[in-house]
Amino acid sequence: VLPKTYVGQEDCSIARALEVLGERWTLLIMRDAFYGVRRFNDFIAHLDAPRTVLSTRLRTLVDDGLLRRECDPQHAGRSLYELTDAGRALWPALYALGAWGARYAAGPGEPKVYFRHLACGRPLDHTARCETCAVVPDPGDVLISPLRCDVPPARRDRVARGLARPHRLLDPLPAEADSTRGER
Ligand SMILES: [Zn+2]
Repeated sequence: VLPKTYVGQEDCSIARALEVLGERWTLLIMRDAFYGVRRFNDFIAHLDAPRTVLSTRLRTLVDDGLLRRECDPQHAGRSLYELTDAGRALWPALYALGAWGARYAAGPGEPKVYFRHLACGRPLDHTARCETCAVVPDPGDVLISPLRCDVPPARRDRVARGLARPHRLLDPLPAEADSTRGER
């Protein structure tokens, strides 16, 4: 088993960030948290990650202070996962990683979504900045929108369906009314 820490790299802040974020699924969990996913079953529905792996990753993100676990008022005994300030601070880096991937790690197909500043409606640049307003908007002031409304999303899970129309980051997804459908 590989050690979790990067021995000899402790003075490098990239290495320290990777000790928190560098495991498989972790950044995709954070992505979905920005999209507004808060419940274990909704992460599962959208990620198809193994349940034990997702459970471990969520616990690590809570322990490392990126997510906060709260009681789910709608489901006794279950948890809601909310981004902490440290978690929210990852937004520009996560966004820039996606912009890099679109440019240099492109796979089959084109990007499916783009991100706009809520205040002015203009697309963000590759660093998550709104050129028009000269700010890097807080994720709560960003809209994720499908590039093409005439193409149905490849995935049909309830989170993907919620992203098939413009959606404000951090707003709960799926809508609270949908979240219990098909569970148990
Ligand atoms: Zn703007």
